[in-house]
Amino acid sequence: MQLTLLGTGCPKVDHKRFGPANLVSTNKSLILVDCGSGVTQRLDKIKVSSAKIDALFLTHLHSDHVIDLYQLIISSWHSYRTKPWKVFGPKGTKKFVKKIFDAWKYERVQRIKYEQRSSIESFNIKITEFKDYGKIKINDLLVEYFTVDHKPVKYAYGFNFLYKNKKLTISGDTRPSENVMKYGQLAEVLLHEVFIDGELKKTNKMRTAKTLHNVKAYHTPSSLVGKIAKLTRCKKLVLTHFVPTKFNERKLKKVVRTDFGKDPIIGRDLIKIKI
Ligand SMILES: [Zn+2]
Ligand SMILES: [Zn+2]
Repeated sequence: MQLTLLGTGCPKVDHKRFGPANLVSTNKSLILVDCGSGVTQRLDKIKVSSAKIDALFLTHLHSDHVIDLYQLIISSWHSYRTKPWKVFGPKGTKKFVKKIFDAWKYERVQRIKYEQRSSIESFNIKITEFKDYGKIKINDLLVEYFTVDHKPVKYAYGFNFLYKNKKLTISGDTRPSENVMKYGQLAEVLLHEVFIDGELKKTNKMRTAKTLHNVKAYHTPSSLVGKIAKLTRCKKLVLTHFVPTKFNERKLKKVVRTDFGKDPIIGRDLIKIKI
């Protein structure tokens, strides 16, 4: 199994850290987790055609994680996709996809009619909405999903990818979550989001003390992420979804190492991790 970080950023734009997205792959499967800004360019960069992706899993419906969903679908049509899209996501995913499709309906109908491509299966979207917990088999990969805590977001999920006795745990966006520690036990790799303490400053009226407090409160601070990894007893901790995207790396590593006992991997767009 391989994990490719496609986007390690957050809503704040950073040309080195695209919007949140990850690819989990084996010889037989390609699963995309989230589709943040720039995901199709990142897939193109690693020469993975969106026509070939077996399933899309959504952690939650925050815009930074789903903003390029329509672009992903359209570009898969342009890449000669001949199979429907399987999308797995939280409650509300069906409504969300329907609204996007409605917004582009006129343009899409006109384009399909005019361009006369041989297949329109890429516009056939099969959506499954998550319950609180479950398992989904995609070819040779078993995906286990569980709720995490990203309140006020009502439905937010973390995932385990299970392949040949190896486990990859993806936290999704969450404040410190008991479920990540419970389901992520002994993971080979824990991919965890992080809010880096002390890096975001109150700058003007747009970012108040309240803003800083609230943003931190629904993410996992750097002062706790190493402790979570330690309790999870994972072999490797990979950090992603950096808030903010620019920070003192040495300082972050040091803080996390103190708690985790090992160096974390500071995620970067396009790095690959074998599991
Ligand atoms: Zn996010
Ligand atoms: Zn979020």
